[in-house]
Amino acid sequence: MAKKALFEQKITCPVCENGFTITRVRSSACFVLRRESDFRVKYRDLDPLLYSIWVCPNCQYANMENEFVKGLSENDKKKLKTELPPLKSSEPDLWHERTPETALRAVHLALRSAIIRQAPAIVMAGLFLRGSWIFREIGNTEMEKEFLGKAKRLYEYSFEKESNRYLEQMGQARVMYLIGELNRKLGNFDDAVRWFSRILSNRNMVVEPDLQRLIRDQWEVAREEHKKGSAGEPQEEKKEMKPVEISIVLGHEQAEWLKHVVQRSFEYHGARIEDAEIIKVIIELLAEKYPDLALKSVEELKNLLAV
Ligand SMILES: [Zn+2]
Repeated sequence: MAKKALFEQKITCPVCENGFTITRVRSSACFVLRRESDFRVKYRDLDPLLYSIWVCPNCQYANMENEFVKGLSENDKKKLKTELPPLKSSEPDLWHERTPETALRAVHLALRSAIIRQAPAIVMAGLFLRGSWIFREIGNTEMEKEFLGKAKRLYEYSFEKESNRYLEQMGQARVMYLIGELNRKLGNFDDAVRWFSRILSNRNMVVEPDLQRLIRDQWEVAREEHKKGSAGEPQEEKKEMKPVEISIVLGHEQAEWLKHVVQRSFEYHGARIEDAEIIKVIIELLAEKYPDLALKSVEELKNLLAV
């Protein structure tokens, strides 16, 4: 790797105000090889993706380089200042030349910061997408898919429920295309086709010619793959589940415990345990402990849990 392509820059952490030096990639040293269908840009020699997340060595606040300083509100800073120190972990060198493995640590730390400050789903989606690109780079297909799946769900959530500057910057059509393409990559061809057609059938939507071409190409690929019968990629399992609304009031200690469980999952697995998954485990444990459980009402469950 050409050392001259890298340079150092002094940064002040917006959370703890510690000064540190990070390594950046000179854009003049980057040569684009190709653009992949999920917006991953492949470069020759040097991969700027590995350096795209900055990490403060003191408080371990981490974020995308263009969001690191200006992307935080005062409230975000306050939350990070209180909640990061107890989570401080021992990390590899993230401030000089990076490997895909060290870059993945930076992604995990950025996800941790994003969860603490309750960043919009689209921000989290972008981090998972970047993580999946790095896993693709090192040939870890299983983790690549896991991260793609998380990115897909978060983009879908963001598209349906959020309205923020990130969505505006990216543009509706690009977000919709990405959801379609991630579905295709995960083997959900029907969903992929549905998202692609939703964009092209909307006459009011502004779609740049390049993106239009990409949508038509990937639509065709999805149709072909569908005909071939998933091309060896398993369809993402679809579970028909009736939504059940459960409201749970947690005491302070219980809430702290839950937060701890969610944050520790980052330390070990680099992924967030969703609240719904925790509830699922609790229900499964209950079912295991009381295999013959047949409850007729919520009251009966309440009584059982109170024992
Ligand atoms: Zn800091």
